[in-house]
Amino acid sequence: MTKLRIDHAVIDADLVIFDKDGTLIDFEFYWGERTRRCGERLIERVGGDGTLRAALFSSLGFDAANGQTAGDGPLATATMTKIYTVATVVLYQHGFGWDEAEAHVQAAFASCMGAIPTGDLVRTLSDVPDLFRCLDQAGAKIAIVTSDDHATAAETLALLGVSDLVSAIVGGDDDIPMKPAPDAILHVCEQLGVAPQRTMMVGDTVADLVMAGRAGAGVRLAVLSGVGGRTELATHADLIIASIDDIVVEP
Ligand SMILES: [Mg+2]
Repeated sequence: MTKLRIDHAVIDADLVIFDKDGTLIDFEFYWGERTRRCGERLIERVGGDGTLRAALFSSLGFDAANGQTAGDGPLATATMTKIYTVATVVLYQHGFGWDEAEAHVQAAFASCMGAIPTGDLVRTLSDVPDLFRCLDQAGAKIAIVTSDDHATAAETLALLGVSDLVSAIVGGDDDIPMKPAPDAILHVCEQLGVAPQRTMMVGDTVADLVMAGRAGAGVRLAVLSGVGGRTELATHADLIIASIDDIVVEP
């Protein structure tokens, strides 16, 4: 049993499941820059104009002008495969045949968006290694459930130097229904032998919290460090904090 102090609440949990983007690492810094870069690469490849550019970014739920991502849009919550399908649909709507559109997306967008993360794009939202070490020393297990690809998540954890502290990872390309379905949490709980009600889910989107609610997780903890706003998260969260910085592991 690990005691955690969150704001004024004291809770105990045997397993803490973290979302990755917007929770552990800076979403805008990573995906904002990457989406802009990869979107431009696709536009350039197909000789697209401003209309296509606007349609692509808005369909992804990304405002390229101010770098903001819609909390309930595909970029914020969908798996990479679905995000590539959105881009393909946009090209199809702008006169490309479906197969041709898919080929362009694969060559210029998917290869770019799904590239292994580099250190210059990964900025943590707190001292993740310190938090994970404290949780580990207090006896809590740690898992990651992300819509991003499994290998990308594993590589990000390696970049942060915390791979050996994480007991399980579920990615969007694992063969498990993704958020807001409860399956990923239930899968991790079964794998690690922890009852769902003994887990705390930490995430920055409604999808994270709804997944936790459906899985029967003990605590749904929302962080405001990502793409979700307080109002939209409040109805689905047990507790809301600014960032994972506010999780205190009791000795
Ligand atoms: Mg997130």
